[in-house]
Amino acid sequence: MTEFEDTGEALALADSEASLARTQRRSRELETQIAARPEQFRMLTGDRPTGLLHIGHYFGSITNRVRLFDLGVDTFILIADYQVITDRDGVGPIADRVINAVADYVAAGLDPAKATIFTHSAVPALNQLMLPFLSLVTEAELRRNPTVKSELEATGDRPMSGLLLTYPVHQAADILFCKANVVPVGKDQLPHLEQTRVVARRFDERYGRVDPARPVFPQAEALLAERAVTILGLDGTKMSKSKGNVIELGMDADTTARLIKKAVTDSDRHITYDPDARPGVSNLVNLAALATGRTPEDVAAEIGDGGAGTLKKFVTEALNERLRPHREKRAELMADPAYLHAVLRQGNEKANAVADQTLAEVRTAMQMVY
Ligand code: ATP
Ligand code: MG
Repeated sequence: MTEFEDTGEALALADSEASLARTQRRSRELETQIAARPEQFRMLTGDRPTGLLHIGHYFGSITNRVRLFDLGVDTFILIADYQVITDRDGVGPIADRVINAVADYVAAGLDPAKATIFTHSAVPALNQLMLPFLSLVTEAELRRNPTVKSELEATGDRPMSGLLLTYPVHQAADILFCKANVVPVGKDQLPHLEQTRVVARRFDERYGRVDPARPVFPQAEALLAERAVTILGLDGTKMSKSKGNVIELGMDADTTARLIKKAVTDSDRHITYDPDARPGVSNLVNLAALATGRTPEDVAAEIGDGGAGTLKKFVTEALNERLRPHREKRAELMADPAYLHAVLRQGNEKANAVADQTLAEVRTAMQMVY
């Protein structure tokens, strides 16, 4: 196999502070361009259906997707069902989780008549892109991918599956099949996006073009949020589907109240916003701020010497109030599974049309049209 230029460095660089600052600057420019010409942008984003979506997803990514969708960005939302099996033995109650995710997306405001909500497993041409794409990466560079490394650490002693090792390539297929040019991500995802850009570039170098004027695949860009949001779970570690420390979007107001009562805080009655020194308290302050659209400092000042009890009551009310319309809408949708399946079928049809078109271009570029 021909040696590719070494991207280990490029991927590691994508992780560096300098590169982060550059991506942040570029994200600000992109935001301006999106506001001016939203029709020039297509966004690809999504979630693995490894559990039910929770308030971490809501404030960390879903609200941002809805904002971009409302600006007029062409929106592709992937429910990454094939990615569930990268690091576990079975699929779990996957069909139910997929339908719940559709309900959450639609309830959050992604109009299925405009947004394309789809699953990996229903779009064969997307997955077929894995074959040419895998020819464009080396095993060594996949092993060096910082995100693969940290995912591997998170799975403990479990041996790495071939699917986990190659999942950055699958993610490249997710982004490139629909020629998305903007991908809203957290900074931990930047190496993946760099891998996608490398795949697109190498495809162009090695297999050529259909239209001599432009490569088959555009260079997708990361869109970092101005202020990254990480919601902690009730145990004080990052809220995560697989950790059982979540407040699901579908939970009712009483369950939410009960869970918040159990959230870890500290013994200082004076409430301040200081995420490093007081993660538990600050997480609750932050949640209240996100739910009410105020600043965390403002919320902390209002509670002042009220202590953790007042803070928890405040967060509970703010969160339940903020989520009420979402929960009502999601309950209505969940009562009509036929509708949710129709939404998914329609999204899958749209995704298939796009994927078939892209695969046809790929086969043309590769001279594999017989
Ligand atoms: P898993 O336990 O399977 O890793 P998870 O709950 O951590 O699930 P992911 O599918 O890893 O969820 O996360 C998808 C995206 O949702 C992340 O890239 C991030 O943007 C957002 N997200 C998830 N959890 C949080 C959180 N606690 N705070 C903020 N954003 C979050
Ligand atoms: Mg996670």
